[in-house]
Amino acid sequence: MSAPRTDTIEIDGSQGEGGGQILRTALALSLCTGKPLRLFQIRAGRAKPGLLRQHLTAVNAAAEVGGAEVTGAALGSRELTFVPGPLRGGEYHFAVGTAGSATLVLQTVLPALCLAREPSRLTLEGGTHNPLAPPWDFLAHAFLPLLGRMGPVVTTELERCGFYPAGGGRFTVAVTPVAKLQPLTVLERGKVLRRRARAIVANLPTRIAQRELGTLQGQFGLQRDECRAQGIRDSAGPGNVVIIEIEAEHVTEVFTGFGEKGVKSEEVAGAVGAEMQRYLESSAPVGEHLADQLLLPLALAGGGTYRTLEPSSHTRTNIDVIRRFLDVVARIEQSDDGTHTITLRGQA
Ligand code: AMP
Repeated sequence: MSAPRTDTIEIDGSQGEGGGQILRTALALSLCTGKPLRLFQIRAGRAKPGLLRQHLTAVNAAAEVGGAEVTGAALGSRELTFVPGPLRGGEYHFAVGTAGSATLVLQTVLPALCLAREPSRLTLEGGTHNPLAPPWDFLAHAFLPLLGRMGPVVTTELERCGFYPAGGGRFTVAVTPVAKLQPLTVLERGKVLRRRARAIVANLPTRIAQRELGTLQGQFGLQRDECRAQGIRDSAGPGNVVIIEIEAEHVTEVFTGFGEKGVKSEEVAGAVGAEMQRYLESSAPVGEHLADQLLLPLALAGGGTYRTLEPSSHTRTNIDVIRRFLDVVARIEQSDDGTHTITLRGQA
């Protein structure tokens, strides 16, 4: 066995949030910086710790993209070493094999592929609309347009929705990389240009979607022509999701809620509506989820700033993990109106 490299970054997966994001951020940065990684106590803060199918797919995807040597890549594993080789863009196919989130697999390899020498084309399979993960629509309409402002051209097409527990979703992603990401500034939202609500039902009665949209119209002031019910027949299993997109001059935000057995449609829509309302009542352009996901590209760009709501524990933990790999300083300043401005600055 070869001796451990002295430049290995050791990451404790139980810190802060203690979830999968620590793993994904660490893998993404190991790929981008070429620094070897040892991760221990993986997902120690979660009810089912260690690598689940979705995380293992992310590890294998990162290994393939980065020609890495890996130990500990097994279901349930709580420790991993990852020594990246040469990064390579190209054609990739990553399938989670369960309903685990395929967008989170993408999140692991996308930063590196945005900085690879060659363009990439990916096909991802698994869950496309999962609770506690970025839904495809968030990726396509909120995250990727902002990443695009930093230089790379990343487009995605949804071929089939995949919901928990059946999975079977599929989307493609095309990446035109850049040599360096440009810093991003998102301090103002600008005027709201368009609101759009969709209630999607897969292999379930359309009236569920109609009740959800009724709640958004009755309680949250959305207009009829801003709402659309969509029935999907080609999904592997049943599923229901409510998606609200707020398109403003400088940013689009996407809010999502999932139908669950035993939870009333009105409650599902009510929770998404309330999230939208909280966002619109504040002046922050960047919502909770974009806030933690923008940090990594900003750090790779060597800087950037955005204004958001109260920083989540995902945001705080992500900053800590990023700072283990990159020489960046993060400042969080609270304004009188309760919004927070997060600024990252490279030390180089
Ligand atoms: P973890 O809980 O550590 O696996 O990380 C989950 C990731 O999914 C974080 O980056 C969250 O911001 C993101 N996420 C969770 N829910 C949503 C949502 N509704 N919209 C967008 N991103 C989400």
